[in-house]
Amino acid sequence: GAGAVAGAAGYWRLSKLAVPARDDPGKDFAGVSPPLLQAIAKALKFPVSSMLPEEAFTVIRKSFDARKILKEPQFVYTVDVDVKRLLDLEPRTWDFIARLEPKLGTIEYMPDEKVASDLKPRVAVVGSGPSGLFASLVLGELGAEVTLIERGQPVEQRGRDIGALVVRRILHSESNFCFGEGGAGTWSDGKLVTRIGRNTDGVQAVMKTFVQFGGPPNILVDGKPHLGTDKLVPLLRNFRHHLKELGVNIIFNTRVDDLVVEGGQVKGVVVSDSRLQLGSPNQTLSFDAVVLAVGHSARDTYSMLLRHNVDMHPKSFAVGLRIEHPQELINDIQYSELAAEVHKGRGRIPVADYKIVKSFGEGDAELPEQNRSCYSFCMCPGGQVVLTSTNPSELCINGMSFSRRASKWANSAFVATVSSHDFRPFESHGSLAGVEFQREFERRAATMGGGNFVVPAQCVTDFLSNRLSVTTLPPSSYRLGVRPSKLHELFPSHVTEVLQQSIIMIEEEMPGFVSSEALLHGVETRTSSPLQISRNTGTYESTSLQGLYPIGEGAGYAGGILSASVDGMYCGFALAKQLSLFHGDI
Ligand code: FAD
Repeated sequence: GAGAVAGAAGYWRLSKLAVPARDDPGKDFAGVSPPLLQAIAKALKFPVSSMLPEEAFTVIRKSFDARKILKEPQFVYTVDVDVKRLLDLEPRTWDFIARLEPKLGTIEYMPDEKVASDLKPRVAVVGSGPSGLFASLVLGELGAEVTLIERGQPVEQRGRDIGALVVRRILHSESNFCFGEGGAGTWSDGKLVTRIGRNTDGVQAVMKTFVQFGGPPNILVDGKPHLGTDKLVPLLRNFRHHLKELGVNIIFNTRVDDLVVEGGQVKGVVVSDSRLQLGSPNQTLSFDAVVLAVGHSARDTYSMLLRHNVDMHPKSFAVGLRIEHPQELINDIQYSELAAEVHKGRGRIPVADYKIVKSFGEGDAELPEQNRSCYSFCMCPGGQVVLTSTNPSELCINGMSFSRRASKWANSAFVATVSSHDFRPFESHGSLAGVEFQREFERRAATMGGGNFVVPAQCVTDFLSNRLSVTTLPPSSYRLGVRPSKLHELFPSHVTEVLQQSIIMIEEEMPGFVSSEALLHGVETRTSSPLQISRNTGTYESTSLQGLYPIGEGAGYAGGILSASVDGMYCGFALAKQLSLFHGDI
């Protein structure tokens, strides 16, 4: 088997690392390819190969071995490991090395030491958004038998379904801007910004994994990293191929409709074919654990959890409108003279963005209704406004962009916080009160728009004066049409007032923001989850149902691509530990 010996100071030498010839880049390639990295990770018993920094390894020897006794021809490598580089580059790895250090020189790796597949714990991961993908990656790499269940389509077909929506107004309820491979983050702006700390180990590991799956390396250094839909789609395809190579069973077009619960423990899931309108015969699948990574548009799944009395509670989130300006106007406001260079399209300077936060109230925790903040959210420079409804009677929007951010428009959500006080009219829905609050305003927006996914819109100047826009509306990037509407009447008056006051304050900081060319679109309701599913810190297991692991944005533990990915990754480690697949510290 492959082995490791202590080499010159600070180096280990790993030998007999085998990579099947069909996976290897070939005889002329002397670098560290992803399959070699996997072989190294196995030899080091390091859980996730994509987290190992390539730079720490140097190929010393590479030979071809086609002996008949082998199952298939392979390349056999000897690799030196620069331990110091590992220590410098990856704090997570540091812990790992520190644990191995006493055994240095005696590590022996047995390539045949595979867990027999009938002994592998079986884990279902429900949802292939960022959180579900990273949970599947970690669990798959650590040796669980993972089934990734996704109600929507793979990215290739999902792209066609989104095309049908944007061009022919056909909304597929299971394959759209929210549902399908990659989750809500695929046809998005792909901003990789987060409030959980850019340089934390978890975020760094996720970013490096994105690069390994084809993301541009500059996202690791860029102050405001951004992928764009055109980069996200191939990245997700590579992610899928890697999961399949690990043996993860990925099933698309399959919706989890119910949980199988016996004696307070989840034993499996009930699924149906999501393409069949009238429902397909249900099928029951057994699992040792179920990771629930369904995002916050899966309202049917929330209702199912409520039927099982899973502990959940409403949480604060934010609602509002999406504001769109000509990108050139935002460039002028933010860059002054430099804007001319951006307008010439030389690509040296990024198109301008903005970030706004305004707080109101006295900060009295007893009176949450008097404490509100208003902020811009998911700003998409050079992007477009898109429809994120999953049902034709509920209308909501968001923003996306392509990597070049070359459209004529700059859009951003402009939202005010709402909390349980606001959900009181919907109290009868229990922990789903916030969901019903969202639904109410999405229905109002659909009605105001007049149907057919036409979005209600209002000039920002008219919104401030509480009047219907009577002149022609400025152009919008939204492809399915806008209709002049009284958006000032859509939300409860206190929400509208906070939005209006904030806009007036922003105009003082960013003169020109209030412009006849600025158009508000309704409604932006799915900013973050309206509820949280209670789980134990550390184990990630539901507090009320054993074997259920609620993660990501839908469970109320993340907001955005990066934090959802990190949550999924850590849940993967925590669950692997409970399943005795992994013994390290997390
Ligand atoms: P999701 O990505 O929502 O994934 C959940 C998955 O579960 C979906 O694929 C869904 O089909 C599947 N699913 C749901 N129910 C079931 C079921 N019962 N059975 C089987 N499968 C099920 N964030 C950023 O950080 N940067 C951005 O630029 C950005 N732009 C965005 C633009 C748009 C248009 C949208 C909609 C969102 C954007 N976001 C952005 C938010 C980001 O997409 C989410 O925070 C993130 O995707 C949440 O990840 P998740 O894994 O928790 O859930």
